[in-house]
Amino acid sequence: MNVLELEEFNIIKEFRSEQYNKYVVEPIDKPTFCSKCGSIFKENAKLKVHDVRTRKVADQDIRGMKVIIEIKQRRFYCPECGDTFTEIFKSIAPDDRITVRLRDCLGKESIKGNTSFASLADQYGVSESTVKRSFEIHVAKLDAQRVLVAPRILGIDEIYVHIKGEHRKQPCAVFTDVEKGKPIEFVRGITKELVVQKIKEMKGYENIEVVTMDMASAYRNAVEETIPKAFCVIDRFHVMQKFNMKVDVLRASIQSKASEGARKELFRVKYAIRSNRENLNKNEQIQQLDGVLEKYPSLKEAYWAKEGLKDVYNAKTKYDAYQLYYQWETSISKGNKVGKEMQKLVNKLKKEVFAYFDGHWTNAYTESFNNVIRRIVRLGNGYSYDTLRAKVIFGSDKAEPLKAKNMQFYEVDAITGKRIFVTD
Ligand SMILES: [Zn+2]
Repeated sequence: MNVLELEEFNIIKEFRSEQYNKYVVEPIDKPTFCSKCGSIFKENAKLKVHDVRTRKVADQDIRGMKVIIEIKQRRFYCPECGDTFTEIFKSIAPDDRITVRLRDCLGKESIKGNTSFASLADQYGVSESTVKRSFEIHVAKLDAQRVLVAPRILGIDEIYVHIKGEHRKQPCAVFTDVEKGKPIEFVRGITKELVVQKIKEMKGYENIEVVTMDMASAYRNAVEETIPKAFCVIDRFHVMQKFNMKVDVLRASIQSKASEGARKELFRVKYAIRSNRENLNKNEQIQQLDGVLEKYPSLKEAYWAKEGLKDVYNAKTKYDAYQLYYQWETSISKGNKVGKEMQKLVNKLKKEVFAYFDGHWTNAYTESFNNVIRRIVRLGNGYSYDTLRAKVIFGSDKAEPLKAKNMQFYEVDAITGKRIFVTD
């Protein structure tokens, strides 16, 4: 076998330069069939060469050097159909300028969340469309092998992303196996109908025990319709995300009516308001934040209501959480519009919100997962939906998986009052 380890060819010349190695090769055997009419030739059939053309293809690197193969590709006369036909090789990708093994390699590399088509094209010295074709072939293979199995704990998340050809960010629903920390499906659109359809596509969806989600009602309704026995959990991340959004809307509305100087200082504390107070720098950030809040009483009230609800999440048990929550409720004054809105929302979804304390969820999960997707989107710079979906499902790094030990979701038997445990 030659240095290229391609058994179809003999190397007849070799060039080396600083940038690449080039091998001129010729095929060893004559074709066994006509690529035009499909006729299979007898072993001793006499085939006449019509002409020989040079075809350049890229191959995998050898010891860090780029490799170019120049093939002396022949055209023959077919004794069966009388037409001319080009010989084809099993180690060279048809209709492309790469070897099959480089295409496989590009397929595997391009699906990763931390690469872009452009960076790979650069690295391997091929065109971006070649990378994209390799990607599509690889994805088709993976999709064909895939069985969408329902996880024990399903996460449904919503994310707004840039999709090629759209001016506005598009809402997408991400389904995850929460315990494995792996995304399992990525759907464009966030309607209840879509979610119902996706859940039903999962093998064994009837056995899903827990579904984590945000505060919007579409997912909850979809779950109630398809898997009524499953527990819905609205996790801490989504509750606080909702609260932060509401506080930010208030901040922005005050800012829009303020004088120029005030607008600047309100904008400057935007991220400090959203952050956990204990993560802020005591001297600078907290002083600046408190100074600004002092001037806007309604914003100050909303901010402290947010911090107060966050403290409820420090509770170790569900019972403690309820106690802290009731205290929090009494601290919300009538005029605190944002606080009252959140209180109303949490009360409406109390069962789901406090189910969080049954599960010992780690908050890091959803957050880190969202970051994984955002990074894919940023690197891709306007992927199509299909590309984005494949990258998210097949190529994203593991987000931090949920540690769901000691999960004790239970229902209470209406007659005996006994707890019925759903999970071990
Ligand atoms: Zn033929």
